[in-house]
Amino acid sequence: MSILKNAVDSIALGLEDYEASESDERRVVSCARNIYAGILLLFKYKLSSLSDPNTDEALIKEKVQPKVVDNKILWVGKGKKTVDYQSIKDRFDSLDIKVDWDRINKINDYRNNVEHYFSNLEHKAIQGLISNSFLIIRDFIAEELQADPKECLGSDAWSILVEVHEVYEKEKADCVSSIESLDFFSDTILDAFVSYSCDGCGSDLIYPSHLNGDAIDSEFFCKSCETEFSYEEIVRPAIADYFEYDAYVAMTDGGDSPIADCPFCGGAYLYEEKICAECGESAAHECGFCGSEIIPGELSDEGLCGYCSHVLSKDD
Ligand SMILES: [Zn+2]
Ligand SMILES: [Zn+2]
Ligand SMILES: [Zn+2]
Repeated sequence: MSILKNAVDSIALGLEDYEASESDERRVVSCARNIYAGILLLFKYKLSSLSDPNTDEALIKEKVQPKVVDNKILWVGKGKKTVDYQSIKDRFDSLDIKVDWDRINKINDYRNNVEHYFSNLEHKAIQGLISNSFLIIRDFIAEELQADPKECLGSDAWSILVEVHEVYEKEKADCVSSIESLDFFSDTILDAFVSYSCDGCGSDLIYPSHLNGDAIDSEFFCKSCETEFSYEEIVRPAIADYFEYDAYVAMTDGGDSPIADCPFCGGAYLYEEKICAECGESAAHECGFCGSEIIPGELSDEGLCGYCSHVLSKDD
């Protein structure tokens, strides 16, 4: 029972930090830390409640060892060290307990960045983390712990969570529809802008200076810390974030990276979509001399594959 109490206390503390961070921005860090810790504790509580009573909470122990208990061999927890994030995920996967890990990763990234990278700690910027946490906490308590989330958290904590979630969702929807009113070179670039977070404070409430017109001519603002960005300042990191997973897979498993260097401006060229996210130019993907496909690393402004370009330059 005490793990569940710790989880609820940690979330409640995080929400107190949130309210205090309006006047003391240093509390943003402890808000992120406490809420994230509370979520992991909820997960550990689930593992502990599934552990056989004779196993010293084997499912939440980092180390387990076989032991003879009542003439049976059981895997029993060893030592005090409990499971970390990765082990919780592995055990949930093997026990078929479903959690939205993408959302958890977002929360964890924010927590990590707020401690190490963000220069502006903003009360408002943390609303996205709380809103995402709300969805995880609500669903996990209802579906995996079969309890009423409002009763479990207490009505004070619950009402802060609901309120922050509703305000944030509405503001995010406003930002998204404003960004959607602009013309982007492609829908992928639009999606990348919609999921971009301010590099100063971590808020993803980014809105354009005006509605309609070309995105490349617009300025963008962070609703939380009010930093102003040009199109160019957002596009490269936004595209890199958006394709982070695919680029990682391409690097580790082989295969082509989804992003190439634009032969016209040196910017992020979307190979699949045949367009540069920064200057909007399209390069030839078929060699004008031999007709073969030009691989991402060999795109050029002369429309030749690497081989032909090499051979023809020798003839000069
Ligand atoms: Zn910001
Ligand atoms: Zn370009
Ligand atoms: Zn060729």
